[in-house]
Amino acid sequence: MMQVLVIGASRGIGLEFVRQYRQAGAQVVATARSEDGLAELHKLGAKALKLDVADTASSSGLAWQIDGHQFDRVILNAGIHGTRTTGLQTPPQDEFDAVMRTNVLGPMRVLPQLVDSMAPGARLAILSSRMGSMGLRSASSSWLYRASKAAVNSVLRDASLVFAGRVVCVAFHPGWVRTDMGGSGADLSVDESVAGMREQLSKLTAADNGAFLNYDGQPLAW
Ligand code: NAP
Repeated sequence: MMQVLVIGASRGIGLEFVRQYRQAGAQVVATARSEDGLAELHKLGAKALKLDVADTASSSGLAWQIDGHQFDRVILNAGIHGTRTTGLQTPPQDEFDAVMRTNVLGPMRVLPQLVDSMAPGARLAILSSRMGSMGLRSASSSWLYRASKAAVNSVLRDASLVFAGRVVCVAFHPGWVRTDMGGSGADLSVDESVAGMREQLSKLTAADNGAFLNYDGQPLAW
């Protein structure tokens, strides 16, 4: 039976990954940081773990909680946007810390704890964003969020080198998706976005390790 781990799954894209993988018959371990989030995961039949990637003590306990699992799919989804800006407004330090701690330090805390818990040939995805692409940059809105996603793209590349030959690692842009973060005017439903990413994950080969992909498989410039 396929084993799946989703980090940051209380709502939005993360919760939809849990729903679709459960529907496909997978055994799913998923994390949330609130009681409501944990309840959502229980409802879907996932094993729910309490985890706040922005909290040192909370995130350091992941490795022993997943001990014994061999995950075929790992999705690092937890992320925050922070205040939406249009120009070069210097972020308050606490906001800078919160966005960077969640979007960059979070994956850097989780990735080392996965080393013994990924099945040979597993696929690992970090939910990045096209807004983090420097090659495609044509606007400067929300520059803190952009910087955090550019930084996590670097983290993904390093993970892909460490896990090469064992795990295929990719950064995904999920599309512009109707969630609390994406808003109701976004292009895609969570269903479409997650179905696309699941399909791409199943098609990946070793040659895709370290790629930055749109939810539909189109390669994106770093
Ligand atoms: P969302 O609806 O705002 O959900 C964010 C998820 O991340 C929630 O489950 C949230 O948990 C979790 N999270 C936030 N901070 C966390 C922390 N410190 N520890 C653990 N979990 C935490 O966002 P979304 O639209 O589903 O986005 C998911 C990912 O896709 C994010 O990384 C986002 O940057 C990326 N993305 C989204 C879009 C889009 O259009 N929606 C586009 C590009 C990239 P709580 O419920 O506890 O807050």
